[in-house]
Amino acid sequence: MPVSSTDLIHHNYVPPAGFAAPQPGVFKASTVYFPNVAAMRQFEWKDKSAYTYGLHGTPTSYTLEERLCTLEGGKQCLLVPSGLAAIATVALALLRSGDEVLIPDNAYGPNKALAEGELSHWGITHRFYNPLHPQDLAAKITPQTRLVWLEAAGSVTLEFPDLLEQVRICKAAGVICALDNTWGAGLAFAPFDLQPGSKTPLAVDISVHALTKYPNGGGDVLMGSIVTQDDALHMRLKLCHMRLGLGVAANDVESVLRGLPSLKLRYTAHDEAARALAQWCLTRPEFAQVLHPALANSPGHRHWQVLCQGGPGTAAGLFSVIFKPDYTQAQVDAFCDGLKLFEIGYSWGGPVSLVMPYQLVSMRTHWPEHLARGTLVRFSIGLESVEDLRADLAAALRLLA
Ligand SMILES: *Cc1c(COP(=O)(O)O)cnc(C)c1O
Repeated sequence: MPVSSTDLIHHNYVPPAGFAAPQPGVFKASTVYFPNVAAMRQFEWKDKSAYTYGLHGTPTSYTLEERLCTLEGGKQCLLVPSGLAAIATVALALLRSGDEVLIPDNAYGPNKALAEGELSHWGITHRFYNPLHPQDLAAKITPQTRLVWLEAAGSVTLEFPDLLEQVRICKAAGVICALDNTWGAGLAFAPFDLQPGSKTPLAVDISVHALTKYPNGGGDVLMGSIVTQDDALHMRLKLCHMRLGLGVAANDVESVLRGLPSLKLRYTAHDEAARALAQWCLTRPEFAQVLHPALANSPGHRHWQVLCQGGPGTAAGLFSVIFKPDYTQAQVDAFCDGLKLFEIGYSWGGPVSLVMPYQLVSMRTHWPEHLARGTLVRFSIGLESVEDLRADLAAALRLLA
């Protein structure tokens, strides 16, 4: 008689407990069994004391959440399907019609697009503030302001803000501040301990992180996290997250868990290579400006020095150049096309170096006074040899001659 499907499903083999290996197991579930009805009625997923449904957490997702709390120095963590979903979840959880959100003018573009799109359709207003002038942030906070976004360094143009002063301003006004901490990755500075050793601890309220970038590190997973330190704030975010039905796939969680042990090593390697190449770009006549917070003339360098201490300081593997205005867009495009090792692509944090030209005029309310005029190109430095990358840049620059 062929085996019955019931015997295949209700099989009695149980593997021995206590299987131990460096990498945690990958648990996948939509359904999670309860031992009995009483347990089903009593199990509570909100405090991670039990499992109730795949969307509410598995041993695999709880493990990654705990490790990200350790990485960022927070207490609670939520996982979402992308870095942008982390930004959107914070906005949806904390803002309602009539509220206002403040966003730095150099913020990650899609954060601004969310404010200009859905948030404004729902009666939530926004204003963009100057990331280099804390007084501008202070002046823009009104009784309607419910959320302030912070980003250090800013996307694409990499200005480094006076984050300490920005957080002080938000605290004084009693407004929740959320940091997009993708650039810092939990390594360049501690978002929940911005003044280590000081008698007056200073912390952001929320740190969101595109795990897509350095924590995963392979350019092959999209995921985001929302880390907090306050139980009540976390619960507001968690209930919204649950109602929206945001979940992450166990294989993707596994991938990020595999990436975390080498995160610091990789971040340091990206940092050193990016700095060497940014320094080299400073010597090149084609560029009007090189933007990297560790360079003395880069906007906000002083603030980077204060916040990202430790040895020579710490930075992500990103920098941008602004070509002198005599170079046309077509020439700059040809330079990007001429690179052989740098691929043209969005995102960063993987092993392959990337290049992307940006149209700054369409990204900012006005051309920032601290930026030279010209076409901007951003580099994300991967893990290739620095000499090879430098030679690639030099060869592509020769095409401009
Ligand atoms: C990439 C990025 C995000 C969004 O991450 P995705 O996973 O691509 O949605 C958010 N903020 C910053 C600063 C980023 O660089």
